[in-house]
Amino acid sequence: MPAIDRDLETLALERDADGFVRLTVTVPGHRQNVLTQRVIEELSRVLDQLHAERPRGVILLSGRPGSFFAGADLSRLEELGTLPTAEIADLCDRGKAVFAKLSASFPTAAVIDGTCLGGGLELALACDLRVATSEKHTVLGLPEVKLGLLPGWGGTVRLARLIGPGPAVELAASGETLDGAAAGRLGVVDACVPAAEAVESARRLLVLRGDDGFIAARRRRMSAPVDLDSVERAFLEATTAAVILGRTGGHYPAPPAILRTILAGASVDAAAASRIESEAFAKLAATPVARNLLRVFAIGERNRRDSGVDTTSCGEPSPAAAPAVVGAGIMGAGIAASHLRAGQPVTVVDINPEALAASVPGILAEAAWDRLAKRPDEARALQLTGHLRTSTSFAALAAADIVMESVTERPDIKQQVLAEIERMVGPGTVITTNTSTNPIGRLAAGLTDPSRFCGLHFFNPVRRMTLVEIVRGPATSDATVASAVAHAKRLGKCPVVVNDSPGFLVNRILMPYLHEAGELLREGVSAERLDRVARGFGMPMGPIELYDMIGLDTAFYAGLVLSAAYGDRIEASPVIPALVKAGKLGRKTAAGFYRYAEAGPHGRIVGRDDKATEVIARYAYPPRESSDRTIVDRLFLPMLLEALRGLDENLVRDGRDIDLAVIHALGFPAFRGGLLAWGDSLGAAEVVRRLEPLAELGLRMKPTERLLAHASSGRPLTGEVLP
Ligand code: NAD
Repeated sequence: MPAIDRDLETLALERDADGFVRLTVTVPGHRQNVLTQRVIEELSRVLDQLHAERPRGVILLSGRPGSFFAGADLSRLEELGTLPTAEIADLCDRGKAVFAKLSASFPTAAVIDGTCLGGGLELALACDLRVATSEKHTVLGLPEVKLGLLPGWGGTVRLARLIGPGPAVELAASGETLDGAAAGRLGVVDACVPAAEAVESARRLLVLRGDDGFIAARRRRMSAPVDLDSVERAFLEATTAAVILGRTGGHYPAPPAILRTILAGASVDAAAASRIESEAFAKLAATPVARNLLRVFAIGERNRRDSGVDTTSCGEPSPAAAPAVVGAGIMGAGIAASHLRAGQPVTVVDINPEALAASVPGILAEAAWDRLAKRPDEARALQLTGHLRTSTSFAALAAADIVMESVTERPDIKQQVLAEIERMVGPGTVITTNTSTNPIGRLAAGLTDPSRFCGLHFFNPVRRMTLVEIVRGPATSDATVASAVAHAKRLGKCPVVVNDSPGFLVNRILMPYLHEAGELLREGVSAERLDRVARGFGMPMGPIELYDMIGLDTAFYAGLVLSAAYGDRIEASPVIPALVKAGKLGRKTAAGFYRYAEAGPHGRIVGRDDKATEVIARYAYPPRESSDRTIVDRLFLPMLLEALRGLDENLVRDGRDIDLAVIHALGFPAFRGGLLAWGDSLGAAEVVRRLEPLAELGLRMKPTERLLAHASSGRPLTGEVLP
């Protein structure tokens, strides 16, 4: 064995009698293969050695099933924002120099089985040929854009030359992934075959494509400028720039930078294009948007690893084997469907046989939803029927180890249902409630053992909303919280542990936003303008559209609970009950603040509702100054103040949970990094200054002690040290 092979930690070499070398990568200490410094350094040494050996071909593959390369080592990515741009560009260049060795002498092929993302795909692109497997777990893509970056290891240069600048921009600027077959159709890979045949197929291709001159021709093409005439270029530039602007609202600098980089790189040779790419990468890494997105990513990773509670005394929970849902309404059905989607059989109980029967097709359709085809996969739905058990009797809960109550939002009914559940299940079963407004302590009153009870608050629609609040009541045990967190994660959700308090975390922070929008309407600001300004800030929809989507009856009820708890700063508006009384409940009745072409979630807005205009006029206030900037301050600063009050009350462990929650549950723009990060982008002192002209609106605009302390110390509101 040559000396080089002996001290390798991440690579293994196998040479066969025909002169081929298999280079197998397995990165220890990570769940997936990632491009650590060590891998890059070992790859560099091995390729130099092989250069001297002159093998007939090298096949690069992963020793880890289902993971070719998940990308760069993201645990180090956050440092990027702290490095000078020249150093970042240099880091890119060093990686590229190693990758370039894969197409400098002997022919190379990558066998892609499993995740092949970001730097992983760039590594594969650096080989002469690529064979992807047709297995379900094989996905290829360049998700850097989602972190506010662009591919910085030659991805934009090679992809534009391989599949053309248009498709390359589309793939890199959207961050979307392809399966093996789609990658084959697009030309990202040269073949797509079952995993068992992949290595042999790569070997055959290396022989065939070496002999017929294809590899040599491809190498020439990959190093030359791209053949793109000025008309094609202008067309691509104009259309793609418009699409990107439509998708990002101009808030994200990475997609347009990807377009510019690919176009600039197309007209020069690959070496020059590579320098353009490194510089563009370094510039993006230094933008506040990339810093925010990298922080949001790191917070998400912390959440993924975190059990939400200190498990030293209670131990790690065992996974629930027999989950059950009580209540087959909108939410119960969504929760049941998310179990089936996650491969977990589930029992659903509802006392109303019609409601129960009516929920089944919807549960199966949602569970079998095919994201690509945008419709349910009927064969899959049929398979899943065997995993869904329904009953009108609580006796069906006897074997359940976690029960999620999701019945009508009435405390008397809920207490009765929870007591009934407790009577049916064993002593170790965790019992949760999906209540939006009832304190957990109050619902626990009828239980013999309230320590096994907590809130497990999903958001609507369950399929799309990843956040789940795990609400710890006064008697909830650590073991119960840990079980609920673990269960939510098995459903692919992002759980945040919250202490019991009216509105929990998310609705409490949402409340001042909706309330302020109502007040602005009464001052004469139009619904359309409020929605436009909020969207311009980056929200997925404005507050008035949101009112209509939530339903004004639901908003009214939640408003009552919240104004009872926080009446010093939130007064229930008379506008909402007046509209509810008139039957204007929002989208579900095709009329609320707006009128809709049809009832339901998809109805198009056709105009302002006359009744709403009349009710708003009835309760009008004198107009105030209302520049767009003031509207932004009035909508979002009270949310920030509420978040700071939540921190004062230890509602969550720290500000990272708040930023994660507002992004995942309210659609707060990720490019702003969350509420607290947005506050930091202004600076606490500036926040205080902006609140001054709003002081006459009352307590809801009053800076909290915490804010004042940050304003005088200059410490950031997101003062956390990330793990
Ligand atoms: P829903 O009215 O659509 O469904 C409630 C279901 O509970 C009905 O099918 C009803 O038959 C059943 N039910 C009533 N009494 C029962 C009993 N004694 N035993 C068994 N089943 C019974 O309500 P929903 O919108 O699905 O809300 C359910 C829960 O989820 C509520 O606590 C609500 O606050 C909460 N929630 C709702 C939303 C939302 O947007 N709809 C969002 C988050 C949380």
